[in-house]
Parts: sequence; C-alpha cells; structure tokens
Amino acid sequence: MEKQIYKNRKIVLLTKHKKEEAIKPILEKATGCRLIIESGFDTDIFGTFSRDITRTKSQLETARLKIREGMLLSGLDIGIASEGSFGPHPFIPAPWNIELVLLFDQQENFELYGIHESGETNFAQLTTASFEEALSFANKSGFPEHFLIIRPDDSESEQIIKGINNYEWLKEAFAWCVAESHSGKVFIETDMRAHANPIRMENIKKATEDLIEKLHNFCPNCTAPGFIVSERIKGLPCELCGLPSDLVLKNSSKCRKCSYVLERLHPNGQFAAAKYCHFCNP
Ligand SMILES: [Zn+2]
Ligand SMILES: [Zn+2]
Repeated sequence: MEKQIYKNRKIVLLTKHKKEEAIKPILEKATGCRLIIESGFDTDIFGTFSRDITRTKSQLETARLKIREGMLLSGLDIGIASEGSFGPHPFIPAPWNIELVLLFDQQENFELYGIHESGETNFAQLTTASFEEALSFANKSGFPEHFLIIRPDDSESEQIIKGINNYEWLKEAFAWCVAESHSGKVFIETDMRAHANPIRMENIKKATEDLIEKLHNFCPNCTAPGFIVSERIKGLPCELCGLPSDLVLKNSSKCRKCSYVLERLHPNGQFAAAKYCHFCNP
C-alpha cells in the first residue's frame, strides 16, 4: 500500500462535463483525499473544442486557470484540473489527443501534471449534403454513446447543436441545418467534451494514472512526493568513436522542497548506437 499523501485533505475539481467519473476513483484511492466537485462555473469560457469560443491560453495555462477558479469557489487550497487537446498527429496523418491532468497544492506551492498522448480517439469532421453519409459518419464515430455536434454550412457557423445522442434528434437536427444553410450542406463533427465521449474519458483516466505514478516518487532525503526526473543531460558516447551523441547520458532529479539532487548515469545503457552519432552517421 502506497503512502496516502493527501489523506483527509479535500481536493477541488472544477468541471461541468463530469470529469470526476474519470478522476475521482483513481485519485481518492491512491492518495486518500476526498474530491470535491465544483460544477457551477462555465468552464467553456476558457475555450471549446467546437470553436464557438477560442481557447486563448496553452493547455497547461488553461488547466491552471481552472484550478485557480476551483480553489476560489470552494475555498480549498488544493485543486486538480483536466484539459485536453485534439488535432492532427505531428508527423503522420492521424488524429491525436493529448490529455493533461494538473494538480496544484497551494500549501506546498507544488505543481505536477500527468499526461497521456494517444491516437485512440474518434476526433473527426465531415461536410455533407447527404443524410446517408452523415449516418455512416455517426456509426463510425461510435454514436450514440459518443455524441455529435452539427451546424449549417461549415465549421465556423455560429448556429450550432451540441450533444446529439439519439438517431431521431440527429435526423431532425440534420434537416434543420440543411434548411438553415446557404450551401445545402451540413458540418458534422464528433463531440469531444468528456461526458459526450467515452474514449476521451478513458484517456483522462490514463493521464490521472500518470499523475499518480509521478506523485508516488518520493524524495530520498525528505520524502516529498513527485520526485521525478527534472533534467535529461545529453551526450551519451557513440559505441564506435566515443564522441557525444544527442542521447541521454544522465538523468537528474531535484527535490522542489529540500533541493536534494539525485543523478542517474546511463539510464538507457552506456553507449549510443552508431546510427545516432553525428560523426559516424551524419
Ligand atoms: Zn526532498
Ligand atoms: Zn560515432
């Protein structure tokens, strides 16, 4: 049994999209805390996936804002927030989801996040005039367990219907959007809000598990949680010529509380394969 680092402490989560379903069981079991839900605040003002409100801050900054708001509303001094992003994979033509779960403990002035990156997502869009095509898109997206969003014409239309979760409503909404459109077409997309997207909910769980795993590294000197690698120093020597490569030579962890430093030489072996060497394989 791991040490219950937040035993009897209340942690606030600001969400109106039921993110507690992913976070609460894992966090409470692993840390002994009690998760308090604040749902009376419209987190959409920080930005939406459907572009009706643009997110102006980075993913991490937005999570910080949510925590600050949650602490303000609840009067608690420790908060947690989840913030996701969706887009194309950086190198291959596939959708990509990055989920961040951030914890901030004001008492300790301590911040730590868990992260999960995954191609496991139904993130997709379609513009069509055909209800048949819209239906096949819906079926591929995991509808109706995964909800849909539709609007007339294109992705930027201000008329928008979110959270569609049954076939009858889909049919009605589609017909309404066609009638409202200039082009006769409808823009349909997957609803990425947590309560509308079970695949995303799974990814938030995984980010929460990553946070717990990081928290459960304790400083060998003062036992503060979250003692993780804070710096990776490059320069692992090439196996052939011995010149430094870009691979990691040593990892360094520094305790944010007592400043204890632990360095670990050769975390991934003593030499770099020649294919990583700038000299042998330029
Ligand atoms: Zn320490
Ligand atoms: Zn070399």
